[in-house]
Amino acid sequence: TVALKDVTKVFQDGTLAVDSVNLDVNDGEFMVLLGPSGCGKSTVLRMVAGLEDPTSGAVMLDGEVANDLPPRERKIAMVFQDFALYPHMTVGDNIGFPLRLSGVEPLPRGERIQDVASALGIGDVLGRKPSQLSGGQRQRVAMGRAIVRRPGLFLMDEPLSNLDSGLRAELRAEISGLTRELGVTTIYVTHDQAEALTMADRVAIMRKGVLQDVGTPTQVYGRPATLYVAAFLGSPR
Ligand code: ATP
Ligand code: MG
Repeated sequence: TVALKDVTKVFQDGTLAVDSVNLDVNDGEFMVLLGPSGCGKSTVLRMVAGLEDPTSGAVMLDGEVANDLPPRERKIAMVFQDFALYPHMTVGDNIGFPLRLSGVEPLPRGERIQDVASALGIGDVLGRKPSQLSGGQRQRVAMGRAIVRRPGLFLMDEPLSNLDSGLRAELRAEISGLTRELGVTTIYVTHDQAEALTMADRVAIMRKGVLQDVGTPTQVYGRPATLYVAAFLGSPR
């Protein structure tokens, strides 16, 4: 589980990016963090990952305060919008790189790479270089590399925002299907309402650093907590 307790982030220049956020994410849950540009989504995700320290409040992982835990010790995988693959390595070596780093032998490594690649529909391009792939295939490779070590928590920050709309729709279903299949707890950041409502188990909606509403897509859409949420989601009046 992930629990944010009164988490606040004030940057050095005085910007209040995240304002007393309380949020629980259950094991195996697909939580979407939704809100307009600049509302603090990435800052929340970076604090969960340990890439940014909260100014006050606690980030709890599996019931323990994790504020002082370095990112490497958090068993977290993260995928960003501008993911970078290693251009000189094959697809297979890109996906298997984290396993090689942690000393997994070639044979079991090959099997794990094949499993993940098949699940992502890129099992037949393992020998290619990233430059020989489509944008959607590259995004799948980045996801494969992130989850191959079977993280306890998967963080994604607008991973589809560089893709065209057809591919986005296809990958949405694939991502939420894959993480559910693996049972991995996920926090997925987006500013796209349709994306949030179709993918999420629960949606957390932010505005100007403040959490406005948390609930299932049906709850937040059908019974929005504030006028802002209703307007943002286009809920019927
Ligand atoms: P987007 O959808 O555009 O990615 P976001 O919701 O992810 O936006 P954040 O990146 O979390 O928003 O930024 C929240 C606020 O904090 C913004 O006002 C941003 O300008 C500010 N901010 C982010 N990083 C810093 C920083 N290092 N120093 C100062 N202010 C920052
Ligand atoms: Mg962001």
